[in-house]
Amino acid sequence: MPGSTLKAVAVVTVVLAGLLASAYALGRSLVAEPHPSTAGATTSAYGPRYADQPPSGDPGTPSPDPAPDAADGTGPYGAHVSTGSARVALTFDDGPDPRWTPQVLALLDQYGVKATFCVVGENAESYPDLVRSIAAEGHTLCNHSWKHDVNLGRRTPETIRTDLVRTNDAILAAVPNAHVAYYRQPGGVWTPQVMSACAQLGLTPLHWSVDPSDWKTPGATAIEATVRTQTGPGSIVLMHDAGGDRSGTVTALQRLLPELLARFELEPLPTGAA
Ligand SMILES: [Zn+2]
Repeated sequence: MPGSTLKAVAVVTVVLAGLLASAYALGRSLVAEPHPSTAGATTSAYGPRYADQPPSGDPGTPSPDPAPDAADGTGPYGAHVSTGSARVALTFDDGPDPRWTPQVLALLDQYGVKATFCVVGENAESYPDLVRSIAAEGHTLCNHSWKHDVNLGRRTPETIRTDLVRTNDAILAAVPNAHVAYYRQPGGVWTPQVMSACAQLGLTPLHWSVDPSDWKTPGATAIEATVRTQTGPGSIVLMHDAGGDRSGTVTALQRLLPELLARFELEPLPTGAA
């Protein structure tokens, strides 16, 4: 073969090899990677991670639509997504956490804002002083299950009830006169069974209407932008004071509080306690 033809063959071979390699890589990327286990909490430098994500896998089970129904202020299975007034409620989930909860409390105190903390039972048991601080500073306490089981709603009625009672008891062990009036289902994975346990225990199911997904650590600017643009009269804003690196949440909160205060009245959710 003449030299020029050899060169052309070589070029075509190289191009084909490259295409094959790309196709192989594409094929690999289309195959689902083994999903890291999301069951239970994992521990990191930032303490247990709960991540309010819905359970992975399990495609056969219908999941509740988390989209709020603005018409009557209720979301999945009737869980509350509105304060019921023009006031806005900031809610902080998954704590208490010795690193982040004090920072959130300090900011709220600095701006004179009262909020709602949905605590995980095992964390309340580990850090009763933080639960006491939350209550002493005038914030509302909410039950967020014993160990953040996003599948709790699919367990037996007795398991659900025991979990919620155990969490209430951990809160009450720290703050004997606390009135725990709310339950927030981890991951927002409400089920009729959870709703009925709430009804039996006198807990109001608490969902949310503004979710900056701060547990995914999108950065302070993204958290701030979501809350700023989506919060309106009656909003219940979901954030986290535990479950990973919450520095973005703390920074966003610092930027947001002055603006939110200028636009809304911020309130801790009412507990109905005298
Ligand atoms: Zn949570």
